[in-house]
Amino acid sequence: MVITEPSTMGTRRIRTGGDLESCDSEIVQLEPVNVKLSYASRRQKGESLNKHILASVTDISVDKLTEEAHIPKGQMWSVHKFGGTCVGTSQRIKNVGEIIVNDDTERKLIVVSAMSKVTDMMYDLIYKAQSRNDSYLSALDAVFEKHQLTACDLLDGDELAGFLSRLHHDINNLKAMLRAIYIAGHATESFTDFVVGHGELWSAQMLAAVVRKNGIDCKWMDTREVLIVNPTSSNQVDPDFSESEKRLEKWFSQSPSNTIIATGFIASTPDNIPTTLKRDGSDFSAAIMGALLRAHQVTIWTDVDGVYSADPRKGCLLGILMDHNFDIVVTRISAVSEAVILRTLSYQEAWEMSYFGANVLHPRTIIPVMRYDIPIVIRNIFNLSAPGTMICRPPVDENEDEQIIDSPVKGFATIDNLALVNVEGTGMAGVPGTANAIFGAVKDVGANVIMISQASSEHSVCFAVPEKEVKAVAEALESKFREALNAGRLSQVAIVPNCSILAAVGQKMASTPGVSATLFNALAKANINIRAIAQGCSEYNITVVLKREDCIRALRAVHSRFYLSRTTIAMGIIGPGLIGATLLDQLRDQAAVLKEDFNIDLRVMGVTGSRTMVLSDTGIDLSTWRELLKEKGEVADLEKFTQLVHGNHFIPNTVLVDCTADSNVASRYHDWLRRGIHVITPNKKANSGPLDQYLKLRSLQRKSYTHYFYEATVGAGLPIISTLRGLLETGDHILRIEGIFSGTLSYLFNSFVGTRSFSEVVAEAKEAGYTEPDPRDDLSGTDVARKVIILARESGLKLELSDLPVRSLVPEPLKACASAEEFMKQLPQFDEELAKQRQEAEDAGEVLRYVGVVDAINKEGRVELRRYKKDHPFAQLSGSDNIIAFTTKRYKEQPLIVRGPGAGAQVTAGGIFSDILRLASYLGAPS
Ligand code: ADP
Ligand code: ASP
Ligand code: MG
Repeated sequence: MVITEPSTMGTRRIRTGGDLESCDSEIVQLEPVNVKLSYASRRQKGESLNKHILASVTDISVDKLTEEAHIPKGQMWSVHKFGGTCVGTSQRIKNVGEIIVNDDTERKLIVVSAMSKVTDMMYDLIYKAQSRNDSYLSALDAVFEKHQLTACDLLDGDELAGFLSRLHHDINNLKAMLRAIYIAGHATESFTDFVVGHGELWSAQMLAAVVRKNGIDCKWMDTREVLIVNPTSSNQVDPDFSESEKRLEKWFSQSPSNTIIATGFIASTPDNIPTTLKRDGSDFSAAIMGALLRAHQVTIWTDVDGVYSADPRKGCLLGILMDHNFDIVVTRISAVSEAVILRTLSYQEAWEMSYFGANVLHPRTIIPVMRYDIPIVIRNIFNLSAPGTMICRPPVDENEDEQIIDSPVKGFATIDNLALVNVEGTGMAGVPGTANAIFGAVKDVGANVIMISQASSEHSVCFAVPEKEVKAVAEALESKFREALNAGRLSQVAIVPNCSILAAVGQKMASTPGVSATLFNALAKANINIRAIAQGCSEYNITVVLKREDCIRALRAVHSRFYLSRTTIAMGIIGPGLIGATLLDQLRDQAAVLKEDFNIDLRVMGVTGSRTMVLSDTGIDLSTWRELLKEKGEVADLEKFTQLVHGNHFIPNTVLVDCTADSNVASRYHDWLRRGIHVITPNKKANSGPLDQYLKLRSLQRKSYTHYFYEATVGAGLPIISTLRGLLETGDHILRIEGIFSGTLSYLFNSFVGTRSFSEVVAEAKEAGYTEPDPRDDLSGTDVARKVIILARESGLKLELSDLPVRSLVPEPLKACASAEEFMKQLPQFDEELAKQRQEAEDAGEVLRYVGVVDAINKEGRVELRRYKKDHPFAQLSGSDNIIAFTTKRYKEQPLIVRGPGAGAQVTAGGIFSDILRLASYLGAPS
């Protein structure tokens, strides 16, 4: 083909690249400025306008069809569609070229969108011209420059010259046309469609040249020559498949090729008037092409990893928060940060998702491919390693086990800027034709009804329309029903502005009871009011109308409810000291395994010390919590901490883990349990504190179905509380619990064998870090007494700590010592008494042991120094082991004995961790 350059460059002839050589050779003489406004009407009279203004459209009518090359159809074709973002810059166009070159399918048809923003720029040209705003000229220059620069980056030689000449040519035509629009102050739809479709013409030609540059024979297709569509009344077009098929045959016979780069978005009417498939229509173009070729797959390349379970753009908002100093902080609040990529979607699900606003796919894309069962795969051009989302017919023999795990709701979509119209009145009930009259009036003003809901009492019909159309709708209804309104048969036509729709979509919803219950429950818990509801009987979609400002919160609430594992637990860790820190590290190391193997998702949402705290909306990165606390910690505030861990997100379960030894923290458990927060702790203060408070706590725990676990309060990680509970719950009766409950005191007496004095043994243990910094804290026996109280109460005894006689190993005169050092210095003076006791025991073949006793028969407890025969299990202990003997009705002759290390950060944290997992299993985690 030979074309002339636009007038600015004279009429020099330029030869174009090989692909165009095969087209009819003709000279197109342009009329650069004198474009007639009667373009459409002249077309209808059959005049060949192409010769006048459409240098880029070659008129192919079917009667000229040559039968030379039949286009093959079927599996050998793959269709790709590259969205605007994929071809947004020259580098991206190069990348697209590489993907095309690397696709080893026998035949490929590539549908391409305009470079990103270009279609908007083109619409803006029209808008400016018809508003008689001169700046359309500079805006057109910008369009020109963008493409000229891109082409210069990508191409050289003849290809570049050919493209630039074409570009000049088109720009001049556009200038003429825009001038005409400017003069008329109006643009017809076909003028508009003609103008805005240029973005695709240019991107397709550039991409074709790039592919050729890679050594692949490739033709570009102006789809206005092939795709024939009929406009409908609803600002949509319907493809004419049989006519398009004929035109495709014709096109292919003239330009046979294995690699075709086709323009997305644009098409022609049966009268060859250029039109478009409407905004975002390139997806639709690709689907039609896929269907025409019976391709084995249509791949839609875009800028996200696939279809997300909720709109990822709603995942990040800028929020304004006030911090504790009342300074305003702008922060990113992630809304649906839990959105996940859906691996597969059925055609119906994809359709519902796209119809309800997920613009990752044009809603009309599904129908053409569904007819031939052609799968659509959505992939991310910027992340080739992501497999993307496959949209296809669900396999019939879907694995039933998988179905159990799969959420019945596939995804959520939202539409904003809606208004509800409510037509209400007693005169509507039982009157046939009311709905017809209402929707007739809506149709007359050309408004699009997005959802409808009518209760069976027929007192009201309510429906949602785009906000911008609601005024006209209301006026039309008021005028149509004036008489009924005046007569009181209708009470009102009410408008509820600022609404949004939230739709839950999923094919499996159809067969799963309780989906709407769960959805509404999640909304209720988030305190969100529902204005209207609709669910069709296909049950693929439940739609609710909400206030616009509630929409994101609603999306988060329902999304987490359906998407998070049932055993997702939000955790707040209080007290990151030695035990808390060890627990956090254990969680860090084990979290992935728990999630993968047991579907337990443990999220630490907050860590608070006594001075600073860190919080996260989605979970703290446990490999950096120490740095976060140090560098980004805010002032600790336990109430705020609780609120944020529990209240500010929608993870179904919350647990607070108290790793402190603080009675102030313990005094909050009651309130936490009352608020539905589970509590886990190694802190002995609550269970050994005042009896009435303990009883209140336990009774609340039983009534409220919230869990309170404290295994690590006695014997660290050893199963002591759980063993005791197991005995009691199965009907055994506790007679006596006796044990060595303190690792330190166990060590002291295991080492006190006559070779050294007691004070020497204490000094050695202190040196080795086996005692508290002040050994009196161990020697006083209070800690053991607390454990005895905990076990006594667990066994049903109503004892106070003060009821317990405790043998203190701190000599009375040394209780007042000001410091640990002072105490240690004085302790040797008191060695004699213990030495004497030890010797007496030894002489009787016995040893001394410091033990706690729960005597259930006499309903009492004590902490004392007792003597045991050398063959007694308590006498054979080593190191700092604990040992606990349960004598019960069932274990009367031989007590049930639990023995093992009962102190140390690792085993204590392990005990807390196993309580957390116990909680998860109570909440339904698999075993
Ligand atoms: P293209 O130019 O490639 O056609 P679009 O902007 O038309 O790209 O569509 C992709 C965009 O769709 C994504 O960047 C994303 O912001 C948006 N989107 C909306 N809802 C969803 C969803 N549920 N999953 C994935 N993307 C979505
Ligand atoms: N370029 C067109 C648009 O922006 C079509 C598309 O990209 O799908 O609407
Ligand atoms: Mg798109």
